[in-house]
Amino acid sequence: MIIKSAEFITSAVKPSQYPDEALPELAFAGRSNVGKSSLINAILNRRHLVKTSTTPGRTQLLNFFLINDEMVFVDIPGYGYARAPVSVRKEWGFMIETYLSTRSNLKGVVLLMDIRRIPGPEDISVTDWLNYHKIPFIRILTKADKLSKAQQIKQKGIIAKTVLAETDDLILFSAKTKVGKKAVWDAIVKLIGC
Ligand code: GDP
Repeated sequence: MIIKSAEFITSAVKPSQYPDEALPELAFAGRSNVGKSSLINAILNRRHLVKTSTTPGRTQLLNFFLINDEMVFVDIPGYGYARAPVSVRKEWGFMIETYLSTRSNLKGVVLLMDIRRIPGPEDISVTDWLNYHKIPFIRILTKADKLSKAQQIKQKGIIAKTVLAETDDLILFSAKTKVGKKAVWDAIVKLIGC
């Protein structure tokens, strides 16, 4: 994908603040610190378009980005920050569920998991929830550069079993080496249908 332009549109908490629904949209989700900001910046060839995480515990927003004037990426704040107060987690759940279940131009969700971690209950409940709402999604294993080739294969197998996926459906990616960038784009293009 040739990136001609990528710009921040707006932040939102509730539907009245979302931008209009004219373009196909894709949302990015994962645990906090999974490497979501790094992945979005890397696939857009930008260094600082999406700010890397600062204070994961505080209330966060949905951030909308316009790509090539033809699609919109939505950065969903990371979940699973252990020290986040219950009230913040509840707000997070409500904001995300409202967004995902009402957004008419949402084409799918890019779910990120750290290749070194066994997916936790939150990763599994997000996929259950997306399946229930019939929202298509793709899965990416981030920070692949942190493991050797042999370890990558082993972890991929373990993660696939845990989330009940086919190993071929787990895309390996590294924001550091850019490995997997084309595979990520191919999957995104398929999902978004552009
Ligand atoms: P976010 O909270 O999901 O947006 O995660 P960030 O993109 O802010 O990344 C969290 C931390 O992981 C930062 O210190 C990044 O530099 C690091 N990181 C992200 N992606 C990679 C990667 O592919 N390889 C390595 N080695 N580190 C990464």
